[in-house]
Amino acid sequence: MDLVLASGNPGKLAELRQLLEGSGHVVRPQSEFGVGDAEETGLTFVENALLKARHAARATGLPALADDSGLCVDALGGAPGLYSARYAGGHGDAARNIERLLRELEGVPDDARGARFHCAVVLLRHATDPQPIIAEGSWSGRILRAPRGSGGFGYDPVFLDPENALTAAELEPAVKNTISHRGRALASLRQRLDEI
Ligand code: IMP
Repeated sequence: MDLVLASGNPGKLAELRQLLEGSGHVVRPQSEFGVGDAEETGLTFVENALLKARHAARATGLPALADDSGLCVDALGGAPGLYSARYAGGHGDAARNIERLLRELEGVPDDARGARFHCAVVLLRHATDPQPIIAEGSWSGRILRAPRGSGGFGYDPVFLDPENALTAAELEPAVKNTISHRGRALASLRQRLDEI
């Protein structure tokens, strides 16, 4: 069965293809069908993932998969949260987003710098599917005072994984994929699909 992925991100496409290997599903990006981005007007990760999946399902007539993720920082009441990609203004400027985050956390002691990445994944069988399959995953850690490491993307260089004592940007990608919010959400989705 073909599934449309409601994202243009090649990294996500590769991760999803790997995850769904052997399940009989072929994941195709929405760009293949000329579908643009949905408006993300939701107030939760789940709502935004649903909006993205519904937009792609409606435009293609295919079942659709979408995810939405972000970083929630305790000392900032959960910010940047849904607005992680555009925290410093422009969409996806990681260096400026990190700069703003570190500025907002100036003077906050180590034991109050807890944060978690969160990811919601949604699978809609069709645009008006009243029973979406929803899976979520989180990854808890701490925000450092300065970036470390050169891998990953987004906030990875300032997110310390306490288990490995490495930042997400210092972890091997394969390790990050198994413990990350997205990895956990996708594993849970795969389990749900296998059950159905
Ligand atoms: P989206 O799910 O593609 O909308 O991503 C939202 C934003 O959250 C990204 O642009 C990053 O700023 C941040 N983010 C989500 N997942 C990660 C991650 O694994 N590492 C670092 N930043 C992330």
